[in-house]
Amino acid sequence: MNARLNRTPNGLPNRQPHRLATIRSRTAGALSAGALLASGFLAAGLSALWTAPARAQSPAVLNLYSARHYSTDEALYANFTKATGIRIQRVDADDAGILARLQTEGSSSPADVVLLVDAARLWRAQIDGLFLPVKSTVLESAIPPTLRAKTEADGTTAWFGFSTRARVVVYDKAKVKAEDVDTYEELAEPKNKGRLCTRSGSHPYNLSLFGSMVEHMGPEKTEAWLRGLVANMARAPKGGDTDQIKAVASGECGVALTNSYYLARLLRSNKPEDKAVVERIGIVFPNQSSWGTHVNIAGGAVARHSKNTAAAVKFLEYLASADAQRYFADGNNEWPVAKGVSFDNPALKAMSGGAFKTEVIPTSVVGMNQVKVQQMLDRVGFR
Ligand code: FE
Repeated sequence: MNARLNRTPNGLPNRQPHRLATIRSRTAGALSAGALLASGFLAAGLSALWTAPARAQSPAVLNLYSARHYSTDEALYANFTKATGIRIQRVDADDAGILARLQTEGSSSPADVVLLVDAARLWRAQIDGLFLPVKSTVLESAIPPTLRAKTEADGTTAWFGFSTRARVVVYDKAKVKAEDVDTYEELAEPKNKGRLCTRSGSHPYNLSLFGSMVEHMGPEKTEAWLRGLVANMARAPKGGDTDQIKAVASGECGVALTNSYYLARLLRSNKPEDKAVVERIGIVFPNQSSWGTHVNIAGGAVARHSKNTAAAVKFLEYLASADAQRYFADGNNEWPVAKGVSFDNPALKAMSGGAFKTEVIPTSVVGMNQVKVQQMLDRVGFR
């Protein structure tokens, strides 16, 4: 923990007052400045007081820092602009890149909204004070408490999950039996030697899965399990999740881990080469008879130094609306989080059989385990 930040008992930095309050008081300051102007006090410095709230109230542009690397999201943003007239200016980077940039920019950051694609990174950003906790009854009623940050005593919440994705197993139907790979634990057993393919161990999707394993099995068993994964690898870690799926289909790998939406994308594709991939692979949602499949969150927050707080909250509320939520499902093959949202994505239904058991562990714990996990990866040589 970083001592400089003066933590609250919850581990959250308490040095920052809530900027919603700051903005309100700044507006009040401008009003009293107006009274001064009316009474004949025309000091040059006062014009600055006037322009600050004016900028905050007419946000034509919302600066979005996004780790969502899905081209289908364009329509999601376009619909928001159409509905509100607020244009979205996007900075794209991966989760780590966005967090580093927010840290570097500090209070001069133009970011209004931050979207990340991993629960542990959302937690990390909250702990590092990069988010502005907000109060929104729309978000609170739409998003289940388990899929957002813990609401603080003052009623504000630091971040909100907007969609979920499962970390599932794909296997080569010709060589591997489903019952040999239907738990995460089995992937490390000798029977799967020479079969496993995976992206880098320190990619957030894997770090979160491994962090959840620490929670389910304890640190010793998790380290032994990671050692077993390394021993079972068909090749050194490389590529993204889709590359692993294709390597299973080509016969190079017997089994691999992937986020569910990459799989759904292939299931919905009309390209002959994708159809051939799907034909060759089997899909398993692991640990259905124990703790359930590991599920990650993509979510968002208002940036700590946003100058357009109201528009930023409006954008987050839009992401929780039924239309946007359906879009996460039908456009990017993620599961919506808002209560009572129906969607019609045949691939999501086909691959999970409609419903599946998910693990139930606090997101914050997965985040806290990550340093431990990274050290284990170094020790077992999981690059
Ligand atoms: Fe992804």
